[in-house]
Amino acid sequence: SKAKLFDEKQKVKVSFKDVAGLVGAKEEVQEIVDFLKNPEKYTNLGGKIPKGALLVGPPGTGKTLLAKAVAGEAGVPFFSLSGSDFVEMFVGVGASRVRDLFKQAAQKSPSIIFIDEIDAIGRARGKSNMTGGNDERENTLNQLLTEMDGFGTDVNVIVIAATNRADVLDKALMRAGRFDRQIYVDLPDLNERSAIFNVHLKPLKLGTDLNVDFLAQQTPGFSGADIANLCNEAALMAARKGKESIDNQDFLDSVDRIVGGLEKKNKIISAKE
Ligand code: ATP
Repeated sequence: SKAKLFDEKQKVKVSFKDVAGLVGAKEEVQEIVDFLKNPEKYTNLGGKIPKGALLVGPPGTGKTLLAKAVAGEAGVPFFSLSGSDFVEMFVGVGASRVRDLFKQAAQKSPSIIFIDEIDAIGRARGKSNMTGGNDERENTLNQLLTEMDGFGTDVNVIVIAATNRADVLDKALMRAGRFDRQIYVDLPDLNERSAIFNVHLKPLKLGTDLNVDFLAQQTPGFSGADIANLCNEAALMAARKGKESIDNQDFLDSVDRIVGGLEKKNKIISAKE
């Protein structure tokens, strides 16, 4: 089987309205949309358009969703890959794969490259250099840096990367002209959870007793991905019981199930230590 190097979407349907909450992050990436749509506005004055932005935050908080929404809002192609897949799948050829990716993105410029889990590629170099695997990763990272430095002003490709481990990243990635913009994508607060519920409840058949703010109160610590998952679990729970619509109790039972699952997972992890 042929491993896929990266995913390419010509037309992205996600827009900012699909991303609930994250008001500050959306404001910051709005600028990237503008760079992609009206580059001359910036370059006419002699400015250089930034090449990269780093989205930093816990898992499931909407980093991928936000990057997609930037492509959707700007109407540009979206090239995406996951750092961990990349390191696992392309042993020996990582650097040349990176070159291919940037070449294709440049051909379709303006465009976006999204690198999820960049920490898999971008860990600080030269720390544990005992195995060949690290040299391979370093070659891949070096190629990524070379490509970002090599973009001329004639191509308008913006690289958005995501991580929940900004602390382990090689400082070279954060240098000016690379991922010099860092945008924080945090877990949602109470009001943001309500907004996320509103997005994910929309396609569901709900009972009249449902109260979005109550659900938000019952789900502290949930990420956007957890909330999306909860909405789906509640729908399945109601269906299993043969109900016509999804009611409050289905959500509460699903919260218990999800929180129970998370607690179990944490116990297993801490038992290992
Ligand atoms: P990871 O770090 O695990 O890759 P992520 O931050 O990239 O996670 P996403 O993949 O964007 O998270 O989120 C997963 C799903 O959770 C989204 O496709 C969406 O359904 C839901 N979701 C997450 N955050 C939001 C949000 N702010 N608004 C609406 N839906 C959200």
